[in-house]
Amino acid sequence: MAAVELSRDATPKWVYVFAAGKAEGNAAMIDLLGGKGANLAEMACLGLPVPPGFTITTEVCGLYYENGKSLPEGLGPQVDQALELIGNETGAVFGSEENPLLVAVRSGGRASMPGMMDTILNLGLNDRTVTGLARNSGDDRFAYDSYRRFIQMYGDVVLGVDHTVFEDILDNYKNLNGFSYDTELGAKEWQKIIALYKKAIENETGKPFPQDTSEQLWGAIGAVFGSWQNARAVTYRRLHAIPDSWGTAVNVQAMVFGNMGNTSATGVAFTRNPSTGVNEIYGEYLVNAQGEDVVAGIRTPQPLTAKARREAEDPNPSLEEEMPEAFAQLESIFATLEQRYRDMQDIEFTIQNGKVWMLQTRSGKRTTEAAVRIAVDLAEEGIITREEAVLRVDPGGFTQLLHPTIDSDADKELLTTGLPASPGAAAGGIVFTSDEAEKQKQQGRDVILVRTETSPEDIHGMHASAGILTARGGMTSHAAVVARGMGVPCVSGAGALRINEKAGTLSVGKNVLQAGDVITIDGATGRVYAGAVPMRQPQLSGDFARLIAWADEARVLGVRANADTPKDAKQARAFGAQGIGLCRTEHMFFDAERILAMREMICATTEDGRRAALAKILPVQRADFIELFEIMDELPVTIRLLDPPLHEFLPREEREIEAVAAALAMPTEKLKARIAELAEFNPMLGMRGSRLAIRYPEITEMQARAIFEAAIEAEKRLGAVVEPEIMIPLVAYRHEFDILAGVIRSVAETIGRESGKPLSYKLGTMIELPRACLKAGELTAGDHGADFLSFGTNDLTQTVLGLSRDDAAPILSAYSAQGVYEEDPFVSIDQEGVGELVRIGVERGREAKPALKVGICGEHGGDPASVAFFHAAGFDYVSCSPFRVPVARLAAAQAAIRAKLKS
Ligand code: PEP
Ligand code: MG
Repeated sequence: MAAVELSRDATPKWVYVFAAGKAEGNAAMIDLLGGKGANLAEMACLGLPVPPGFTITTEVCGLYYENGKSLPEGLGPQVDQALELIGNETGAVFGSEENPLLVAVRSGGRASMPGMMDTILNLGLNDRTVTGLARNSGDDRFAYDSYRRFIQMYGDVVLGVDHTVFEDILDNYKNLNGFSYDTELGAKEWQKIIALYKKAIENETGKPFPQDTSEQLWGAIGAVFGSWQNARAVTYRRLHAIPDSWGTAVNVQAMVFGNMGNTSATGVAFTRNPSTGVNEIYGEYLVNAQGEDVVAGIRTPQPLTAKARREAEDPNPSLEEEMPEAFAQLESIFATLEQRYRDMQDIEFTIQNGKVWMLQTRSGKRTTEAAVRIAVDLAEEGIITREEAVLRVDPGGFTQLLHPTIDSDADKELLTTGLPASPGAAAGGIVFTSDEAEKQKQQGRDVILVRTETSPEDIHGMHASAGILTARGGMTSHAAVVARGMGVPCVSGAGALRINEKAGTLSVGKNVLQAGDVITIDGATGRVYAGAVPMRQPQLSGDFARLIAWADEARVLGVRANADTPKDAKQARAFGAQGIGLCRTEHMFFDAERILAMREMICATTEDGRRAALAKILPVQRADFIELFEIMDELPVTIRLLDPPLHEFLPREEREIEAVAAALAMPTEKLKARIAELAEFNPMLGMRGSRLAIRYPEITEMQARAIFEAAIEAEKRLGAVVEPEIMIPLVAYRHEFDILAGVIRSVAETIGRESGKPLSYKLGTMIELPRACLKAGELTAGDHGADFLSFGTNDLTQTVLGLSRDDAAPILSAYSAQGVYEEDPFVSIDQEGVGELVRIGVERGREAKPALKVGICGEHGGDPASVAFFHAAGFDYVSCSPFRVPVARLAAAQAAIRAKLKS
């Protein structure tokens, strides 16, 4: 690297030079040189054809703003020296009339901010140097076209003259002189336009266009640093959480020309297909053009490969056909870059008179499908390890692969946006009630259930619907949790919706839709569209399975599923769940026939009455458990005792109350009185969980009996041991646990005696209250303490933050806008607050019982960042909706690999 070493003096090094075969920087210096600068240096080191240039560091950007938008003293000599070195490399001189050096001045921060900051090309042209360019290139038209492009860009970006001023001049000229296309204009015409441009600049700014090339360069450098704070860039940084303090670097690089005639071109390429991941070059180019022509979309670029051209039925030749030598050279460069960066690259290049020049390389953005394919292929090609392949894929995107997705190319009309509550896209006719959903489903119609919010009574309608849309409720509202569990797409909390169930209308702004009108929801983005938008079906390719298998090799955290029905359980197994971590038994009661027995039980005034009703529920609940145990084979199944407040099972509307009273053969007034009796101001903190079971222990008795009898039957059918895990919800005190554990143990003893064989089972508790975290040691201590703890982080978040799960949506949107919450705490666990209590709970629980099993079954079990947290906190398993199981498997593997790399 000796050839371009700059002399050192007292000023810090602010300028880093690169030229083919040598560079002062490298790919690791992204913070100082920005992504573009670091990668140009790296490509130069690799001996790739990079036009020589230099990078002014991001540090200078900081100084520029600290010094009231002026560049530091001492930068000048470093830039001059670097310019001289570029001149030596190219055999040209900056500002020389005989042999002028022209440069491009580009921004380039640490993180890519495409199109947000400014670029100036062809800098170094003036009335004298343009004649040298014309003479040396032997092409007057090219020289004057370049000069007018430069004046236009410089005038706009550096001098602040609106680009429309130049466009108007050019359009007028063409109109007056009978030209249709820029390509029809020759050197003489461009000279006239240049004169008009210069006059316009003088009129607008009061000063002539700068002829001094040094003044041009410093103006451009200042403008690029200045563009770091332009409104576009500031907004982009806010949206992508890029700190203002990073600053941009400025890259000054010898110009190469893609517009030097028909053996020149400019193009962009991906080394693999960014949409499918297939290992094929993908991209486009324009003959006789400069970079901005591709972006401006004035001409339609052509595909790079012959295959892509044939597929697109493009009559124009591909680069492979038109310039085979340049194409072959690019192919070999792409291979070198992939080996070096060990990833798919996104590239900009120029071909000048048949010679290839590289202008940029960086890791390319890609779809999840492509990310999986590329990661697996790179590992199989031996470029990366399997563990690296596992780290390359964003687990959050996995759900995209498991559901139909909206066809991104399709035309669509956006109606409104809500929360992306359960992934997948679905189209169907609007229905406003669950009964209607079920009816239409039976008639073979796809429906979208639209409700202000859903309640447990809607289960059958939710099951019957292709998708669910609610106007209220957050990411852990009933609709969201149940839909995710079922794998039904759902958009919740779409606050702009106005639902008039009586009139059968749904309005959003001025749009009024009727029941039966078709809409499409996208549960991955929260968007709601009018009509049926075309969709793509999920493709679980072999690559997906292979990557997940590699993930499982690295993973230590177990992954179970939250499953309440045989359908969920089968889905969970298909996605590789290692058991059921939460079966919410209440969901089994909402079936039309079962709910009547439940209501009878709730309305009974005596224990005997309740027991009579429970006796009707017992066989159905037992049958459900047998099926679940059978499906899960020998995998663990955790069953939670009844949790929600009883009023959730009772009807609400007058019409329904009357119907239920009639079915139960009781006076309507009596039913109403019972409903009133059960009403609570804050049911989330009321008669639910262990409190309900302590108040009505006969419910626990029935459920324990159903579980044990089912286990005995399933053991017979499977010929294997079934050891149920029974879990008590919403416990704060050891005493609560002891009372209910006593009830369950006594049922177990009775059944053990009846069956002649002692039962094998585990008893645990959910941790959903701050007191339970603090007292986890007490809850688990001794042989009769809890065998396992399962953190119910939905309720724990609600109780620690004092924030209602069902009323959080409007608060969350205000709080995210103000930055109070970085993430919705019901989606990604609040690691500092709720997380601290979780850590305390695990620690104290294990202190008292070292063999304690610890799991989590809140919605956070399917969130990658939360999964990493649970891994670090020493959990045994996470449990999440079946459709999130692959996400959790990958996230758990990544957490394990990252922890290993750190240690
Ligand atoms: C929880 O609170 O995290 C939990 C899993 O229980 P539910 O969502 O049923 O309240
Ligand atoms: Mg809970």
